[in-house]
Amino acid sequence: MKHLDEYRDPALAHALAAELRAAARHPWTLMEVCGGQTHTILKSGLPALLPPGIELVHGPGCPVCVTSIGLIDTAVELCLRPGVTVTSFGDMMRVPGSRQSLLEARAEGGDARVVYSPLDALKLAQKDPNHEVVFFAVGFETTAPATAMAVWQAAQTGVSNFSLLVAHVLVPPALRAIFAAGRSGVQALLAPGHVCAVTGFEDYEALARDHRLPVVVTGFEPADLLEGILLAVRQLESGRAEVENQYARAVRREGNPQARQVVSDVFEAADREWRGLGVMPGGGLRLRPDFASFDAQNRFKTAGNAHKSPVLCHAGDVLLGRLRPPACPAFGRECSPAHPLGAPMVSSEGACAAYFHYGQ
Ligand code: SF4
Repeated sequence: MKHLDEYRDPALAHALAAELRAAARHPWTLMEVCGGQTHTILKSGLPALLPPGIELVHGPGCPVCVTSIGLIDTAVELCLRPGVTVTSFGDMMRVPGSRQSLLEARAEGGDARVVYSPLDALKLAQKDPNHEVVFFAVGFETTAPATAMAVWQAAQTGVSNFSLLVAHVLVPPALRAIFAAGRSGVQALLAPGHVCAVTGFEDYEALARDHRLPVVVTGFEPADLLEGILLAVRQLESGRAEVENQYARAVRREGNPQARQVVSDVFEAADREWRGLGVMPGGGLRLRPDFASFDAQNRFKTAGNAHKSPVLCHAGDVLLGRLRPPACPAFGRECSPAHPLGAPMVSSEGACAAYFHYGQ
């Protein structure tokens, strides 16, 4: 398949690995931010191609994994109310809240449905104006434009039975908080290419400058990742700390201006709890006052729940790259994709699920 197969070419991968072996003279620790990158790394067996001393740790780039238990509890509470349907992407259905997941709530009579886009949720609301439809809006900057567009369309067309439970998170503020707290031990960053395709990478330039951190905007195929690692290692070996764009076929420095505009028309940055990591200043989105009537938490006056992660789950350490999933005592025992204790074992971008499916 064009634009795919060429980035999965074994000969290219081995050539990049040889260049990497020649470039790496010291041990370095790199973090790939996105869970999609983690899955490619493990599925493709890239660790076996890396020179000794080059270590990859997995970052917090799984929006399902960092959605707070409180928001999941709120979604569960809403779907159990008569006349309310909660919609979201498939992964969100199985993520455990403090008492149950949306799927378990559905088994008790709740109305929770999978949709493929926020516009599908809006269509559901338009079909039955007497029924409240809530879209549980989870995702990074990549999915925020579609959510913003759904709210904008609802406002334009006067749909009043559609609302959002907003769980969108922003990557750069969270990375800034993690590196400012000195919690990582990471020396270079592979930034998420899909996020940067929307936002551009100006925010990452500040991160590179302030923390003396080489940053490489990197794609998702094996050759992308090997080239991203190579560029980062070359920066480290030469003492540079700047942003380079490996994913130039999809990412421009300024990102996608139209997508950025619709997001900033509808949303503004706000502090946000990241599951396992605590409150990240400016680490999420909330609806602007002009669109406050579409905020499900205002509309339904939800209770807000006291919430705790299961004692056995170390998702916070996994998301910070401090613990490899197989080192979690519950991995593959109490916790598996069939019976997940934490979101990283559920999500298609979760690091624990990646290790479970692909091993090391
Ligand atoms: S293996 Fe399961 S219990 Fe352990 S950190 Fe991952 S999700 Fe949590």
